[in-house]
Amino acid sequence: MRFVSNENKCDEWSEFLKSEAKSLKVKRPWDKLTKISRKDKVTGERIKVGSNAKRALHEHLWREQKGLCIYCMQEIHKTRLNSDSHLEHLMNKSQFKELIFEYDNLSVSCNGYDCSTDQDSKGKNQFCGHYKDKKNKKPEFIAEKYINPCEDENIESYFEYDVEGRIKPARNIEPDIKGKASYMIDLINLNDDGLVSARKAAYESLIESEIQEGEKFVLDLLDEKNKFFLGYHSMLKSLFGF
Ligand SMILES: [Zn+2]
Repeated sequence: MRFVSNENKCDEWSEFLKSEAKSLKVKRPWDKLTKISRKDKVTGERIKVGSNAKRALHEHLWREQKGLCIYCMQEIHKTRLNSDSHLEHLMNKSQFKELIFEYDNLSVSCNGYDCSTDQDSKGKNQFCGHYKDKKNKKPEFIAEKYINPCEDENIESYFEYDVEGRIKPARNIEPDIKGKASYMIDLINLNDDGLVSARKAAYESLIESEIQEGEKFVLDLLDEKNKFFLGYHSMLKSLFGF
């Protein structure tokens, strides 16, 4: 995981919240959002303002996250944004109803499978956002233990990786943070077998690139200034020592 700033708000979303404040109060539940529509004053046509705002926000957050899942950091392709990912409530929507439409509480999570595999082999909700919010699972969501990737600027330094693709709490951190990092790995299931294999494959593929193209090529691929990141960016950076 890495820190993603929520400073750059989504204009379409802000405008939607402002203009639909009344109806959002009545239709609080998140799943009613796409049902909200307005009649266009000029053409008389019904415009699905809820769906449009949701789509704009999804794309905006995906760009802010450099095209990666907020938790596992795998790549989510723009053409498959709707099928492979969802708008994730960092603080879950069943316990934190007042944050349901808050920009700062929203991000993009994958749907819990390796997005690069073909459709048939895709399971669902094995890790990340939907897994985190599954009912009756252990560990359950505990706000005091949760490290919010949109709030904690140091989150990336709390984790380290091995060459087998496994993630673990970093060694040189405070015991309290270490406990939270370990909790996050379990809460989101970041050591799911499929995810571990995908991370290992990404690392080995970049080693191959380094052998073929040289260190400068790899450095450029992992440049923090890039508009979009390679999947598992934090792991690759740490294993390559950048
Ligand atoms: Zn994910």
